[in-house]
This record gives sequence, C-alpha cells and structure tokens, in this order.
Amino acid sequence: MCGIFGYIGNKECISLLIEGLKKLEYRGYDSAGVAVLNNDLLIVEKCAGKITELEKLMSGNPPIESHIGIAHTRWATHGRPSTENSHPHTDCKEEIAVVHNGIVENYLQLRRDLCADGHIFKSTTDTEVISHLIEKHLSDESMSLEEAVRKTVGEIIGSFAIAVISKREPDKIIVAKRGSPLKIGLGDGETFIASDIPALIKYTGKVIFLGEEEMAVITKTNIKITDFAGKPVTKEVTLVSWDPVSAEKGGYAHFMLKEIHEQPGAIRDTIADRIKDNCIHFEELEIDKKELAKVNRIVFTACGTSWHAGLIGEYLIEQFVKIPCEVEYAAEFRYRHPVVDDNTLVIAISQSGETADTMGAVWEAKSRGAKVLSICNVVGSSIARESDGVLYTYAGPEIGVASTKAFTTQIVVIYLFSIMLGVLKGSITANEAEKMMKDMYELPQKVELILANETKVEALAEKLYKSTNALYLGRGKGFPIALEGAL
Ligand code: GLU
Repeated sequence: MCGIFGYIGNKECISLLIEGLKKLEYRGYDSAGVAVLNNDLLIVEKCAGKITELEKLMSGNPPIESHIGIAHTRWATHGRPSTENSHPHTDCKEEIAVVHNGIVENYLQLRRDLCADGHIFKSTTDTEVISHLIEKHLSDESMSLEEAVRKTVGEIIGSFAIAVISKREPDKIIVAKRGSPLKIGLGDGETFIASDIPALIKYTGKVIFLGEEEMAVITKTNIKITDFAGKPVTKEVTLVSWDPVSAEKGGYAHFMLKEIHEQPGAIRDTIADRIKDNCIHFEELEIDKKELAKVNRIVFTACGTSWHAGLIGEYLIEQFVKIPCEVEYAAEFRYRHPVVDDNTLVIAISQSGETADTMGAVWEAKSRGAKVLSICNVVGSSIARESDGVLYTYAGPEIGVASTKAFTTQIVVIYLFSIMLGVLKGSITANEAEKMMKDMYELPQKVELILANETKVEALAEKLYKSTNALYLGRGKGFPIALEGAL
C-alpha cells in the first residue's frame, strides 16, 4: 500500500503535491498521479513509473493554477501498473477524483452492479468502484459530497484510506479511513493530508490522526470529523516534534546508513526518563500496577521485524518474569480461537502503529477480555490509541525498509518492561534489577563502539556482497536476531 498526499489552501498546489509525493517515495511505488480543481475544471495527470515522469508529463502542458488537489503513489494490488490503473480515478462524468490506499475486497460485485447501471470503467483496479459509487449517490441532487462518500464507505468491504475531490463542491477534500493510515496536517489557512508523517513535517507539526471508520470534511480553515455513521468526533491535535531534517538523509549516502548511526541516540532517548531512582517508570503505560501484577501470561503479537522483537521478548519474559509467554503472528491471530483471558497481557508491537494485521489482533484480544499493551514508534497512532496502554520507542522516523533503530529500540523497551514486571512480580530482586539498569545505561556507548568499527564492517561487506546466499545462525536470543538478519 502506498502514498496519499493532498493540499487545500491559498498556495499554488501542483508543486506542493509533487513535493509531498516525493517525501513518500521511500515506500516504493509503481505509478503516480495528481488531480486538481481549477474553477470548474477537474484536471487529472497520471502515469506508470516514477514521479519524475509525472513531472515531465505535466511540464509539457500549459501551467495549471490550482489551490486544491490530491496525489497518489500506487503499489498495485488489483490491475497491472499502467497509466489507466494509476490513481486518481474518476467517475463517468469526470467530476469526481479519488485516491485510495488499500484493497476493496468486494469490488467485483460492486463493479458488476455499477456496469449494469450503465457506468463505464476505464481501469481494472478495485479502486475505481469508489468514484463510480460516489457518482451514483450524487445523482440524487440533494445529496452532498460528504453524504455520498459516507454512503460509499458503508458499501465497501476491505481496507482503505481515501481522499476525494469533486467539481460540484470545489472547496473541500473528503477523506475516510478504515485499516490504512491517514493523517491531517493543520497549517495556517491551509490543510494537508498524507498517509505518512514525513510528507507533512516540512509544512506543519500539528497533526490529527484519523481513527478507524472516521471521515473528515476538510476545507482551508476547517476540519469536520465524524464516524461512518455521521456522529461528530472530537480529535486531539498531536504535536509531532520530528524536525524536517531528521526525516531526510542528513548527509549519509542513504537512509538506512543514517538510521544505523542514529541507534545510540534513539536508544538513549528510549531509556531516558524511564529509569529514575533505580526504578523503571513508563509514564504513558496507563495500565495500573495492580492489574499488571495479576498478569499470569503474556502473548506478543506482531508482524515481520516487530515479530522478531517479540521473539526476543519471549526469552526476556521467561527469564525475568518467569510466566508463560508466546509469540503469535498478528496476521493469524484473529483467524484462530486465541485462548486469552483477563489475566493475559497481549503486547502488540508495530513501528508505525498502523499495521493492519496487528490492529486486527488488538481488536481480537480486546474482544476476548485480554488487556492490550502496545509498543509503537508513532505517538498517537491507531494501535497506540486502541490499546489499554502503550510504550513508545523514541526512534523518530524510520525510512529505510530494512528496520534498524526501530527494531533496536523495540528490544530496549521490551527489556525495560520485562525488568519492571519482574520486580513487580517478585521474580527478580531489586539488586538484580539495579545491575541490569546500569547495563542499560551503558548500552548507547557500546553501540557507539560498534559503529566506530564501521570500516571493518565495510571491508567485510566488500568481501560478502556478491554472495548469492547467506545463512544466518544464532542460538538463544541470537536466534531471533539471526531471523531478523536474514529478513
Ligand atoms: N488496490 C488499489 C490498486 O491496486 C490501491 C493500491 C495502493 O494502495 O497503492 O490500485
């Protein structure tokens, strides 16, 4: 699933849209496109390939003046990467434009019904049913764009973050979310939308995280948020303190190298304030210590790298807390009949706090009565908000696809939490805990020492990089580390 960016304000928006998309480029994509409104014109430009291709395409045309637009980078799930399948998608009358991240699971049936009603499709994507459904609802003249989108999201099965603009109401962008991330950035007389924070932080640090089954009507100066039933929702504005430079490469050859070097700082930030007077505190934990003392079983649930962090957690919980602990793949959790009760603590790990399968596992665990604690890197993210308590890793934005500082800080948080729980349950003594806390304090310097050996690592990499296979071996806590290395 790829990127969404949008703008409404007084500035000329085409270059802003392109710039926003470029900030999301790191996620990988196969095509890109924009739609803007100019008086009573809806202009859509899109193509398969890189954003630079899109720029070239647009520079060949007469300049378009516009102050409202939506943009998309696509990672195809339905329909091959091509210009016709790129987003934005429009309706028959070319009045409505839609960008979408996610999958419309019931698109075949919807498409059949819409075709039977005379709608003409231009692509083979699942997404295009959304623009035609909105068109269908808008054929009732009394219906507003907001209501038409609300009806449409009620008909779609699957996951989505969508942004919609229409010639009929050219002063607003409508967004809606289920399962895929969407954020709203509040500027001064202007509003931005984006699927991920790095695209916003150059413009504003004031961010609203759209929640599950929520939609928003966005104008230059106003944001009205409701749930899918139309009930108003009051949202907090989160202040994202990531500075724009920290989301860029900062002089390193690539993001992953920069993020490898950010590990000592990230670990330091994650430990700081958590160790006070020889005790471990998590201010944002929110689960009562008495409740925690009752926990007699822990289940970690996560995907990918975070799942590996959970595997390490299993060793730590067994070692320090001495209670049963399992690690479940989040994608499978809700398809089983997980046996959890109110003495089970489910720990959901997700860097972004938006991983759809992990979110599904959180809901499943909660519906079965378990307490859910999440470990996330994005403050105010969906999983963080849905959980009973949260422990944040303060790693900052991680752009590299292979995780580095997010993974190491996840382990640090799990380590601290295991020690805290061990003391609480009396399975380790205060003296033992004190010694471990001292070790934790020394960790950032130790990581710095390893990074000081970079030239040796580089020399080794020179020898190895042409190998076509690599076998990672590890035992004990080194086993999940080997899995992560192989990943
Ligand atoms: N499912 C949609 C498509 O294939 C959206 C993919 C995405 O999230 O980029 O066009």
